[in-house]
Order: sequence, then structure tokens, then C-alpha cells
Amino acid sequence: MMKIKQFEFNPFPVNCYLVFDDTKQAALIDAGMWTEKEEEELARYIEQHDLTLSCLLNTHMHFDHCMDNAFIFQKYGLRTTAHTRDEFFVQNIALQAAQFNIKLRRDPQEIGSYINEGDEIHFGNTTLKALHVPGHSPGSIVYYCEKEAVIFSGDVIFKRSVGRADLPGGDFHTLIKGIKEKLLPLPDETVIYPGHGPKTTIGEEKRYNMYLI
Ligand SMILES: [Zn+2]
Ligand SMILES: [Zn+2]
Repeated sequence: MMKIKQFEFNPFPVNCYLVFDDTKQAALIDAGMWTEKEEEELARYIEQHDLTLSCLLNTHMHFDHCMDNAFIFQKYGLRTTAHTRDEFFVQNIALQAAQFNIKLRRDPQEIGSYINEGDEIHFGNTTLKALHVPGHSPGSIVYYCEKEAVIFSGDVIFKRSVGRADLPGGDFHTLIKGIKEKLLPLPDETVIYPGHGPKTTIGEEKRYNMYLI
């Protein structure tokens, strides 16, 4: 049985998900911790639940979702997994943050391994499959757990909304096309855990999301 612990980190705020199962192997999806207090909150949860963090995954490489990848490397020895087409964001992470008047505490961290459409991530008894849905960023990945009927959608789709497409490498048409082709065909009951805001389901968004109707 999969467990999902949602954290809201940094001023944006970003939903970061710690996903684990009975084996106590865990994956962190997006590392958006900004303050020391947020880092402690994550580390304490991992410790108190006796979890082993076995991978760090990024939905995409906008700074608010990966600003603390360096902390995860320092504390747990893990480098992130992300799509190669988002690699260009890594070098200008401080600049991206500065545009929003945010000063980062840690240096950017290189991507450790690349993930692409159809790739699978395994930890414990859990399998997450990568769906590449560009348009918000060129390398946006949605992580899909078919067995549990959940997706972690990053900034691709939100409750009643979709990601912005006006950032570097973004394209609105590509985003909508990708959502319609790869996400909407998933079973209606599939729960969407987005990078910002409340969760929703595929069925609800098919009916009520004005960008997709
Ligand atoms: Zn983003
Ligand atoms: Zn975001």
C-alpha cells in the first residue's frame, strides 16, 4: 500500500511528495525546501517513520521544485532524476529565483540520471512510470503509479487549471496536446497530485477543466 506525505515548501508554495510503501523505501518527488526549518521537517519525517530515501525525482527543473536538491545530495547522497531537456535550467537557477526576489541558500545540483517517456522507477514494491508531457517546461515528467491510480503531475495540470506556458521552452499548444493524449486517457478515478494547490482526479478535470474541454 502506497503512502503519500505531502509537504508544502517555499514561498510559492510547492507541493513536494514523499512516497513510500510497506518496505519503508521512499522517493521524494521535488525538493523545494527553502528554509532550514523546512529541511528539518522533511528529515525528521523520514527519520521518525524509519524510511530509507532511495531516490530523488524531479517533475521538472524550475527552481522552486529543485532548489534544495543539494541538501538531498549532502544528507542522503542522492542526485536527482529528471529529463535532459530541462537541464538548461540548472545553470541559471539563482537567476530564475532572483526574478521572483528569492535568494537561494544552496548551489544548483546537476542532474544525476535522465528519465524519458516510458521509463520506470522502482523502489520497494512501488513502480512509477514516466510520462513526458512538455509545454510548461520542455522536460516536464508526470510520474504515474498505475497500481495505486495516482499521478504526480508537477506543473503540467492543476485542479481546474494547467501550467503556464510563457516560461523559457514553454508552449501552450504542446502542453494541451500532451495532457489530452497522455493524461486524460488514464482511468477517471486516477488521483492527480499537482505541484501546487489541491489534488483532483482525471475524471473531474475532464469534466470541469476549462482548458481541456
Ligand atoms: Zn514550473
Ligand atoms: Zn511550480
